[in-house]
Amino acid sequence: MPNIAEQIKKSLTQDALALINNLGKTARDLGYNIYIVGGPVRDMLLGRPIVDIDIVVEGDAIALARGMAKALGYQSKTHPRFGTANLYMSNVSADLVTARSETYEKPGALPTVTPSSLKSDLARRDFTMNAIAASVAPNDFGELIDYAGGLNDLKAGLIRVLHPNSFMDDATRIFRAVRYEQRLSFTIEPVTEGLIKQNLSMIDTISGNRLKNELNLIFKEDSCIKALERVDELGILKRLHPSLRGNGWLSAKLCKDCDQVILFALLTYNLNEEDCRDTLKRLNISGKNGQTIKEVQKIKKELNALSVHNLPFSRVYRMLENFSNEAVEVVILAEEPSAARQHLELYIEELQLIRPILDGNDLKRMGITTGRKIGQILKQLTNAKLDHKVRTRGEEERLVKSLIRGDKP
Ligand code: ATP
Repeated sequence: MPNIAEQIKKSLTQDALALINNLGKTARDLGYNIYIVGGPVRDMLLGRPIVDIDIVVEGDAIALARGMAKALGYQSKTHPRFGTANLYMSNVSADLVTARSETYEKPGALPTVTPSSLKSDLARRDFTMNAIAASVAPNDFGELIDYAGGLNDLKAGLIRVLHPNSFMDDATRIFRAVRYEQRLSFTIEPVTEGLIKQNLSMIDTISGNRLKNELNLIFKEDSCIKALERVDELGILKRLHPSLRGNGWLSAKLCKDCDQVILFALLTYNLNEEDCRDTLKRLNISGKNGQTIKEVQKIKKELNALSVHNLPFSRVYRMLENFSNEAVEVVILAEEPSAARQHLELYIEELQLIRPILDGNDLKRMGITTGRKIGQILKQLTNAKLDHKVRTRGEEERLVKSLIRGDKP
């Protein structure tokens, strides 16, 4: 097997390399085997930047983390229930797991985990390219372990599952396959693509929260637009809801820095109200985020009325005042330039900030006693101000007096 000691040294910062070397020595003293696995090995082999350092220990990951903390001053956070630990010091960190095997009681269920060997640990992974390990033990530092042929697939740019039941065990892997394919400009190899198509119904076994998380991960990718088109093309989006689409203008407006709620509001923008409601339910989007997305649907219904030229500004204001700015902003983002969009922009930038000079106390001093009447007159005063019918304090007072007399404004 090849040795990637040189790539490890080149890819890691001094501090990260020191952490890896220290882990190797501490593990050896405890009698454990230790490996870098998954994403970092893949990315080192591809010459891409390393994001996280994931370590598998044939032994007790918790004891190893504690040993590192005690002897070398690393900080550790241990999770005994899962046999995992995080180690960190200033700007480096590593995630340690005890080698484990996983069995799935039913599709979509979380796996049952038991401590095991590196071989079983690699066998539970999603794709061959993510099932490669590199030893970091002092005696064979950098030796690759590749039971599944990941190295060849990496060279050929192929995403391949480890076994035919992979998507049945965990259908989130369908989303992962597309995400990696677009990120790395790889190809999902034909048998794996066939398995995706055969197992689309397994997407129904994934909970709303996990689905939401997978979509979020796609939104965060630089290649988000292409990835959404691909999940559409493979029939994955339709499985979430038959009306969902990932192509065209919609994808172009999704940006990875947008808030989560904006991304989901754009994803569902073209749906009708009922389909949107069903999609929100499927993705378990409720509370404030769900409310914002429902508001977007309601604003869409006002677009015809908002497209009238010379619409009094007070009308624009009253049509939009009960919606959150976030919802209005989504519609601005989604709509092409139009008279309606100009009205939305005007509302956000100017109209919603306009207030009369007089306030409730001024009106009381002018003789209005009931709260309800004060509210009504303030509303009429605001409308007049929005429509430029009053500008100065004197003009506002004159209008209030005429309203008290019962004159038509
Ligand atoms: P990224 O660059 O997106 O972080 P990564 O490969 O590090 O890529 P993670 O989601 O951090 O991906 O997962 C770490 C490793 O755990 C993966 O490389 C893969 O081996 C394994 N893994 C993660 N999710 C799954 C899954 N659903 N099924 C099987 N293996 C998985």
